[in-house]
Amino acid sequence: MALDTLERASDSGGQETPFDPEALRERYRQERDRRLRPEGNDQYVEVKGDFSHYIDDPYVEPGFTRAPLTDGVDALIIGGGFGGLMAGAHLRKAGIERIRIIEKGGDFGGTWYWNRYPGAQCDIEAYIYLPLLEETGFLPKEKYSYAPEILAHARRIGEHFDLYRDACFQTQIAAVTWLEEESLWLVTTNRDDRIRARYVVMSNGPLNRPKLPGIPGIDRYRGHSFHTSRWDYGYTGGDTTGHLDRLADKRVAIIGTGATAVQCVPHLGRHARELYVFQRTPSSVDLRGNSPTDPAWAASLTPGWQKRRMDNFNLLVSGLPQSEDLVSDGWTDIIRNLSAMVPARMAEGSAMKLEDLAREVELADFRKMNQIRARVDATVRDPKTAEALKPWYRQFCKRPTFNDDYLTTFNRPNVTLVDTVGRGVDSVAETGLIFDGVHYEVDCIIFATGFEVGTAYTRRAGFEVIGRGGQTLSDYWAGGMKTLHGFYSHGFPNCFHLGVTQNALTANFPHMLDEQVRHVVELIQQAAARQARTIEPTVEGEAGWVETIRSSPQMNQEFRRDCTPGYYNGEGVVSDGRGIFDELYGPGPVAFYDLVRQWRSEGGYEGLRIA
Ligand code: NDP
Repeated sequence: MALDTLERASDSGGQETPFDPEALRERYRQERDRRLRPEGNDQYVEVKGDFSHYIDDPYVEPGFTRAPLTDGVDALIIGGGFGGLMAGAHLRKAGIERIRIIEKGGDFGGTWYWNRYPGAQCDIEAYIYLPLLEETGFLPKEKYSYAPEILAHARRIGEHFDLYRDACFQTQIAAVTWLEEESLWLVTTNRDDRIRARYVVMSNGPLNRPKLPGIPGIDRYRGHSFHTSRWDYGYTGGDTTGHLDRLADKRVAIIGTGATAVQCVPHLGRHARELYVFQRTPSSVDLRGNSPTDPAWAASLTPGWQKRRMDNFNLLVSGLPQSEDLVSDGWTDIIRNLSAMVPARMAEGSAMKLEDLAREVELADFRKMNQIRARVDATVRDPKTAEALKPWYRQFCKRPTFNDDYLTTFNRPNVTLVDTVGRGVDSVAETGLIFDGVHYEVDCIIFATGFEVGTAYTRRAGFEVIGRGGQTLSDYWAGGMKTLHGFYSHGFPNCFHLGVTQNALTANFPHMLDEQVRHVVELIQQAAARQARTIEPTVEGEAGWVETIRSSPQMNQEFRRDCTPGYYNGEGVVSDGRGIFDELYGPGPVAFYDLVRQWRSEGGYEGLRIA
């Protein structure tokens, strides 16, 4: 029956090559199976000890010192990325003046502070990705901003809301300890600060700790090497716009072909004498189609436009067809295909059952990925390389990417794709990388191998939170996170987490942060209005929510289990609670935001004690 559907669809559309869904399913299964590794997440090496230079901050001068701080604030925010900045902005708007933002980098920006690799660009439309555009009176130059514009916007938010005076840069938290008698948190840092805070907002970011692959011999290499999130422009020359002129006489290897590599490989290919791209799993690379901001469109915007645009995008990518697609790009494309198809099927008189809908979504996904694979054939001249660059999995198994220069880079004579057919690099030698018995001698290895996900909370955060009675958050969460709505835990009053677990995820991360920050600030205002000292979930409230999360069918659990391994699905180990998407609110972000909005509007804050 599925095949009939496709044959008809291809006949009427006239552009599709007919395909056999079961054959595709089987191919996807085989490709996944060859990549599954028993060690899952443990295949990666923690960046510490001999490897710790990989996370040194290349953007600050060494030797920064300042006097330790001993003061008290209303709210202390951990992390100066978009989450921390938005928390600061909304707290300011709510009239809360005494704020501190602790940030380990040398400025605001978070992920955009660290990730300055050549070609870095947001791949969610900038008009909805860059937060607080209306408040700061800024409109991005292009539909998809490059990293410098995004970093400058982070600084703009800092300036606009006067957050620089509250910021402690190049500072790392040592511990966060609850002082029961004072009902305050004591936050200590590596600069001997001792800051008391009524509220702590954790915005440490889900992808803040670079990881390295545990390839045998990784510590043996004697050439130059660095991780993409600490790009060494001193070595490569150039800057985030490219122009890597010092690579002209260098043989370079890059390991990894995820969203980061897709953006920097074109620059490496343009400038390196030789470039070897070591691939384990290809990314899906769709059309970028960037364009300058249209002044007429900009002039037509009316107040509230950014929120409306964010909501429209979120509804669409959450699978809720809308009459209008404001962003209209690769993210909404798959949903557009689907919404074009569903009414046609409905019109045939068949009431659509959930499994039929799932099947239709799968077919739309197959079509989308067929387009992605056809794009590779149309772009890459060498048939063997083209074949190796085709992704064989469903589109959202990995972060979809969008780039108009990545695939063409493989047509350059100085660029070689080393396809490791799912196995990864075999070993590292003193002078290069080894795969399948071939020794690739290189002057530099660039690790585009991503960030830690699914390791212990304190390992990723780099500090411990010690709540009531000396209970540590690591112990409390040893068997999995326990929260009410993902925000707070019993025994850790006035401590708020911004993140996805036991909460909801949106494709557009700043949208999620916006919803979360508004929630947290409203509760803080509520506590102030009641002259309450603490906000804390009850044991029952928290247990009820954990049960809701764990018992509600995780809509995408089966989907993720069938996916090729990656950090989206805990490297293929879906149900151990360590994957970034293991514990999301099943019905999705739109339902979750409705739920917490309703919960707040009822005024009783069921499951939460504000006292
Ligand atoms: P990823 O985790 O997505 O990619 C890591 C890459 O390293 C994968 O290709 C992985 O292969 C490969 N790899 C790991 N171990 C080995 C090995 N032993 N041998 C060979 N290859 C190996 O990291 P990224 O930095 O690319 O992206 C992380 C996230 O950051 C993205 O998912 C996205 O959320 C975000 N991002 C966003 C951007 C944006 O908004 N513009 C741009 C860049 C990143 P395999 O797939 O087989 O595991």
